[in-house]
Amino acid sequence: MSLAENLARVQERIGAACARAGRDPADVTLLAVSKNHPASTVAEAVGLGVTLFGENRIQEAKVKIPASPGRARWHFIGHLQSNKAREAVALFEMIEGLDSLDLAAELQKQAEKQAKTVRVLAEINVAGESSKFGWNPDRFLEQLADLNAFPRLELHGLMTVAPYSADPERARPVFRRLRELRDEAASRLGAPLPVLSMGMSGDLEVAIGEGATVVRVGTALFGPRPKAVVRTEGDGA
Ligand SMILES: *Cc1c(COP(=O)(O)O)cnc(C)c1O
Repeated sequence: MSLAENLARVQERIGAACARAGRDPADVTLLAVSKNHPASTVAEAVGLGVTLFGENRIQEAKVKIPASPGRARWHFIGHLQSNKAREAVALFEMIEGLDSLDLAAELQKQAEKQAKTVRVLAEINVAGESSKFGWNPDRFLEQLADLNAFPRLELHGLMTVAPYSADPERARPVFRRLRELRDEAASRLGAPLPVLSMGMSGDLEVAIGEGATVVRVGTALFGPRPKAVVRTEGDGA
C-alpha cells in the first residue's frame, strides 16, 4: 500500500468514527508519528497534506526536522529526559509527555532562556503500567496547581498511551478515564483543557468515541517502523 492509500484509509477511519460519535472530523487532528522514518517520508506526507508530525527521540528529531519541509509542525510525543529539555524547547511546538514537576521546572528554565512559551500536554499513566511513564491520575490532580504555576508553560490538555491489546475495546475505559480526568482538571483550574491526545493505529476509533482531539498514528500510515534512522546512547525509549 502506498502512503497516499494508507492516508486515505486512516482519514476514512477517522471520518467514520466521528460520524458514529456525532463529532465534526475537523475537531480531530491527525498527528503522523514519523519516528524511525526518514525526512523524505515526512516530505511525502507533507505533499499529501499532512501537517503535524510526532517524534520521540531528540537525537533523531534534530537531524530530521531541519531536513523536512518548513510547513511541517512537530510535537514531541514520548518521555523527555531533563537534559534534553533545551533542545526540545527549541525544536517542538508542543511537548506531549510532560510527566513530572521536575521536568516542568526544567522546561520552564529553558523556556525562560529561549524567551519562549512552551505548550505542553500532561501524560497520564491511566492504567498504572510499570513499563510506562506518566502521572498517576490522583497524583496529577494533587500537583495540578504547582504545574499550572510555571509562567512559561501552557497546559493544553492530557495525553495517554493505552495498554496494548489486540481488542481495541479494552482501551475504552482508559480513554474515558482520561477524558473525565481532563474535565476534573479543567474545572479545578477554571480554564478549558481542550486537547485530548489519545488513540493510535490500533485503537483510534475507540479514542475518538471517547473524545480524542489528537490521534497519534504511525504504523497505519507508514507501515512497520524500520530501525531508528539515528540512534545514540541514552536517548530514551
Ligand atoms: C510510536 C507511538 C505512536 C504510534 O503508534 P502506532 O501504533 O504505530 O500508530 C503513538 N504514540 C506514541 C507515544 C508513540 O510512541
